[in-house]
Amino acid sequence: MTVLSTDARSRHAADFIDDGALHALLASAAPEPSRVRQIIAKAMAKQALSVQETACLLNAEDPALVEEIFAAARELKRTVYGNRVVLFAPLYIGNDCVNDCRYCAFKRSNKDAVRRTLDGPALREQVEALEARGHKRLILVFGEHPRYSPQFIADCVRQVYGVRVGHGEIRRVNINAAPMDQDGYRAVKDAGIGTFQIFQETYHHDTYARMHPRGPKADYLYRLDGLSRAMEAGIDDVGIGALFGLYDWRFEVLGLVSHALFLQTHYGVGPHTISFPRLRPAAGVTLDERWFVSDRHFKRLVAVLRLAVPYTGLICTAREPAELRREVMAMGVSQIDAGSRIEIGGYTEAGDAQVMQREQFCLGDMRSLDAVIGELLADGHIPSFCTACYRLGRTGEHFMEFAIPGFIKRFCGPNAVTTLAEYLIDYASEATRSAGWAFIERELAGMDEKTRQQVREKLDRIARDGDRDLYF
Ligand code: SAM
Ligand code: SF4
Repeated sequence: MTVLSTDARSRHAADFIDDGALHALLASAAPEPSRVRQIIAKAMAKQALSVQETACLLNAEDPALVEEIFAAARELKRTVYGNRVVLFAPLYIGNDCVNDCRYCAFKRSNKDAVRRTLDGPALREQVEALEARGHKRLILVFGEHPRYSPQFIADCVRQVYGVRVGHGEIRRVNINAAPMDQDGYRAVKDAGIGTFQIFQETYHHDTYARMHPRGPKADYLYRLDGLSRAMEAGIDDVGIGALFGLYDWRFEVLGLVSHALFLQTHYGVGPHTISFPRLRPAAGVTLDERWFVSDRHFKRLVAVLRLAVPYTGLICTAREPAELRREVMAMGVSQIDAGSRIEIGGYTEAGDAQVMQREQFCLGDMRSLDAVIGELLADGHIPSFCTACYRLGRTGEHFMEFAIPGFIKRFCGPNAVTTLAEYLIDYASEATRSAGWAFIERELAGMDEKTRQQVREKLDRIARDGDRDLYF
């Protein structure tokens, strides 16, 4: 087992991924249907599944049983998590990078990449463009480079919060950047970040070593321990993830669940979100197709994750095509990005074209935020820009929204309605606006009398008085 030096490790730093043990679980015989149904029943009671139980669901091959897993994930999503889908956009700040990740166009050996970092005015311009479309939640994305120090990242966060145009403002800034030491995390926390995301990429050690031949990212344990250090530094919303397509998708699911359980055990709270990006074509990248994940397997991994980690949000990004995103939304995805551009400067410069030399990989869903909102409404989902929990200090306890009966009814539902109303008034197209108000009326009709009245009061203040950012 690798051991880290004291200044760079958390209290619980340990390599808790045992490749042999995970492979052994995946090599087990297909489970009895009764065992699979028992595990599904446990998940439906909102109990987290163990790694062994998760492996059992992954090993189920009988198509009828797999359908039962899909149906359970849909049911859990409908009855437990409600119909909200939280919307955000990525903002790529800079693509300088000292690492050489085989799958990424920002790798340092890609000499064709146009390297660029947004400075003050250019950053402001991007944020203004995002606000003008109605975004309220961003994730800032960075390559790994000494110039992207914690202080630099913290400054970017403060600048983003400072940009206000009309009713536009960014209310939550999340980060996807290289792992830091604890002082670094404290610096970015002081700037008011929401979630800090680090993807392990692959939990499989040999593959990890092959994919990350040089640079700081070559250190598997430093990365695996990255979010434990974040939690010890006081960041209690952290996001884990794996890049699907580097190794066996089932192994990565077990890695993610192991990681979630590790954080839950040692810090009393699991990850806020799990991401499961699939590999996309990228400039200067030749990918080995052996482990590519089919759409069918992608749906399975989402359904199994939904059942395994009841208190964790699931993020499906615009890497995936629109139709597939639509399907996995029904199986428990709780956050998506929309209207995304991943070129540096892409929100003002790229139009609808994808510029291979300037982006990290190609997107699968290039629709506008308004088009995505229109589709969500048509499918019975309520788009939410809510940031209330984080701003009221209800972080770390995000499991409340799933765990405490009535939390969704009292807070999340009403906040989705008020933030959607803001969007409809300030930014929506005519078609989305009328679909949105009809949807809001249906939501109000489903609320109890007292809540309905409180929400109507806030809606009046938003529509009549021009008030914004009213939340429960
Ligand atoms: N540079 C930092 C790091 O590697 O942790 C921060 C973020 S990196 C710009 C964001 C994520 O994009 C990576 O963690 C990886 O999972 C994903 N990514 C990289 N290349 C990709 C590709 N070709 N297709 C899909 N996702 C990719
Ligand atoms: Fe750099 Fe991150 Fe891309 Fe790796 S994934 S090359 S660390 S930007």
